[in-house]
Amino acid sequence: MGKVSLVFFKEDCIGCHACEVACKQEHELDVGPRFIKVLERAPLYIPIYCHHCAKPPCKDACPVEAISRNEQGIVLIDEDLCIGCKACAEACPFGAMQFDDDKEVAVKCDLCIERLKNNEQPACSKACPTRCIHWGDMKKISKEIEGSLLQG
Ligand code: SF4
Ligand code: SF4
Repeated sequence: MGKVSLVFFKEDCIGCHACEVACKQEHELDVGPRFIKVLERAPLYIPIYCHHCAKPPCKDACPVEAISRNEQGIVLIDEDLCIGCKACAEACPFGAMQFDDDKEVAVKCDLCIERLKNNEQPACSKACPTRCIHWGDMKKISKEIEGSLLQG
């Protein structure tokens, strides 16, 4: 598989928060950090999630090079290198960077990298009842979105 991404098609979101719950379970997250969250701004639902930016501002802001982008385009944090300065969180334009208060390190979506290795879809995408979370390479995502637009 080439470069992968995740796109949230918010028009189809019904605000059930199943994606948030699935992500919390998959990553065994405590109360604080949320790698995906859906804000309710009636009549809209606004998803906050990592876009795995091609040129990640979080990566550029990190003073100790704890953030990298792998060959699949997944932006990852090396918790062993992180010094907990939160510069990445300030730099992220999407509010996607999270913080683990116990470990005092930045944490974020890894696109369920372990699931991808097993050819499984990310937990949020699998849990969404309206299939509004698309993932994979951009050609596949574009086709899926085109298809759902045609179905109206
Ligand atoms: S955490 Fe923010 S800046 Fe970094 S890759 Fe994700 S969306 Fe981009
Ligand atoms: S909190 Fe960690 S990952 Fe974020 S900028 Fe600081 S050292 Fe880098």
